[in-house]
This record gives sequence, structure tokens and C-alpha cells, in this order.
Amino acid sequence: MQILITGGAGFIGSHLCEYLINTGHNVTCLDNLSSGNIQNIEKLLPETRFTFVEHDTSIPFDYPAERIYNLASPASPAWYSRNPLATIQTIVQSTFNSAAAAEKYGARILQASTSEVYGSPLVHPQTEAYWGNVNPNGERSCYAESKRFAETILSNYHRQYNTDIRIARIFNTYGPKMRHDDGRVIPNFISQALNGSPLSIHGDGNQTRSFCYIDDLITGLVQLMEESEESGPVNLGNNQETSISDLAKMIINLTGSKSDISCIEAPCEDPKKRKPDLTRARMLTGFMPKVSLEKGLQKTIHALIKQTKQ
Ligand code: NAD
Ligand code: UDP
Repeated sequence: MQILITGGAGFIGSHLCEYLINTGHNVTCLDNLSSGNIQNIEKLLPETRFTFVEHDTSIPFDYPAERIYNLASPASPAWYSRNPLATIQTIVQSTFNSAAAAEKYGARILQASTSEVYGSPLVHPQTEAYWGNVNPNGERSCYAESKRFAETILSNYHRQYNTDIRIARIFNTYGPKMRHDDGRVIPNFISQALNGSPLSIHGDGNQTRSFCYIDDLITGLVQLMEESEESGPVNLGNNQETSISDLAKMIINLTGSKSDISCIEAPCEDPKKRKPDLTRARMLTGFMPKVSLEKGLQKTIHALIKQTKQ
């Protein structure tokens, strides 16, 4: 198939490009390299079935496709809050542009949505039926509200034009190819542990997340695109819940680091708990994450060590 991926040079996008090329597809990757990295897709560049176009997807584009994965968006809180208006513009316009391309070419489109649409959740674990608890004026709103609106854009393309849509609500995913300066907790803690500097826990470290290894997420995304007919939102992630202080201890142990832990002020409206209810994904496609946090962290640590040597 002819597959278009916006944000394809980023962490998730580059793994997806590689998977789809390895399974015989033609892939066009659009990315403005703002948080992505050309090294992530370097191996694919000589491949005739792979095309990279440096392009800001908030500006319209026109590439024929049978499938579109719309991933273009900063994803780390540290990155998306640097220029909040640009974040809004990227998420909203890239979704409009991707949906218009899907409508024009009759393509199926998958939107990379996020657990952040649940905000600071009052329901635990989070099911897709929960509408969330988001402050529309808060510091995370540039990302959370835009991602909510992106779901609205696709749902209404589906309603109005019968566009074939998929919405993946992705929960915290990690793995090789994340930038060492990404700012999200796993690459941050690993970089700090490897440098021997204190691991910076925000607040008391009792807040939880449920971390999914990249290979499991790629399986889930492709399954959702190809094996399900669901046009509503579907949670994808891992439901093993971990506190941030336990994560810090695990990373110190796995790296053999002598780093201490330091507790610093938490960012405002940092969700206290997050864990996906995966029943819908399991029923639709049999989705079941396989990689344990310990195994996934080991692979990520090795990759980050290799990356920093290059
Ligand atoms: P990432 O920052 O590594 O990748 C995002 C990519 O989008 C980068 O390559 C970046 O250069 C590109 N991009 C940003 N703005 C662009 C623009 N205007 N035009 C073209 N390209 C642009 O982050 P990621 O973790 O790989 O996230 C990918 C997608 O998945 C994002 O949409 C994110 O919101 C979503 N997501 C990720 C997670 C996660 O835990 N990793 C969780 C929920 C949702
Ligand atoms: N966090 C932390 N130290 C860091 C980076 C993040 O304690 O150096 C915390 C953050 O406050 C949040 C959790 O780790 O509670 C996950 O943060 P991340 O930025 O990875 O993703 P989020 O789930 O907040 O989007």
C-alpha cells in the first residue's frame, strides 16, 4: 500500500516507517524535523519505497495515499509548552490537512491521539467512555485541547464525508530513538542516571503512569488501522501502572548509577494517575502488550548509550 506518515521522523513515526517498509509498503514521510531527527530514518533513505519530504504539515500538502497516519505534533510537555500557539496550530492544521488528503484520495486515516485527552482523570483506569477532566485554560491545554479538537475534526469528517477514520489514544510510550533531551520522564531519568546527576522527580513521586514499549505500540497502531472497523477512540498502551519514584529506582538499578534522587516542584496540573483500560483494543484486535517495563527499559538504556556515543 501507499502510506503517508506525518511526523514520521519522530520517535514513534520513525519506528512506524521502519515497520511499514519492512512489511513491503511504500511510505512517504512528512516532517519538519522540529522535534524529530533525520538520524531516526537514516537507514530508510536509500530505500526506493521510502520518500522523505521536509515539510511543515500545518501547511497543506498533496500526496496520494491509501493510509494516512497523522502523528505530526510535539509530544513532550517540555517541548509542547515552549511555543503553545505553534503547538495548537500544528495539531489542528495538520489534522485538517491530513483529513482533507484522506477525503481526496479515499484513504483511511489514523489520528495519534493521547491519554492527555482525559486530563487529570477522575475515573481510573481510563475507559474510552470517559470524557475527561481538562482545564481549557491551563498550561497543558495547548496540547490536550488541541488533541481533543483533532478527534472532533476526524469524527466530523467521518460524519459529514464518511471518511474512514481511526483514533488511537496513545498512553505514555518509550523506547529507542527518543531524544536524550526529549524532556519526558524515561529519557530524562536515563540521561541523568548515565551522567551521574540526580534524578529529578517532580513533586513527591507518588504520581503514576503506565509505560508502553514502542514495539507493542507499533503492533497496536497497525492492528487498529488494518484489523478493526472502529471509528471511535481506542486506548493503546500498557496497563502496568508504576509510580514515578519506583521508576526512578528501577532506572538507577538498571544503569548501575550512583545518582541520587532529588524532588523538585511539580509542573501545574500534572495528572496524578494514569492507566489505560485496554478492553476495547483487546476485543477489537486482540491487542496485548508483551514487553515488561524492566525489559523495555534495558533496551532503551542500551540504545541511549549507543546514541550518545554516535
Ligand atoms: P516526537 O516529538 O518524537 O515526534 C513528533 C514528530 O512530529 C517529530 O518528528 C516532529 O519533528 C514532527 N512535527 C512536529 N510538528 C510538525 C509540523 N508542524 N510539521 C511536520 N512535522 C512536525 O514525539 P512522539 O512521541 O513520536 O509522538 C508522535 C505522536 O504520537 C504525536 O502526535 C504525539 O502527540 C502522539 N503521542 C505520543 C505519545 C508518547 O508517549 N510517545 C503519547 C500520546 C500521543
Ligand atoms: N516527571 C518527573 N521528572 C522528569 C520528567 C517528568 O518526575 O524529569 C514526571 C512528570 O511530572 C509526570 C511523569 O513524570 O508526572 C510523566 O511525565 P512525562 O513528561 O514523561 O509525560 P506526561 O505523562 O506528563 O505527559
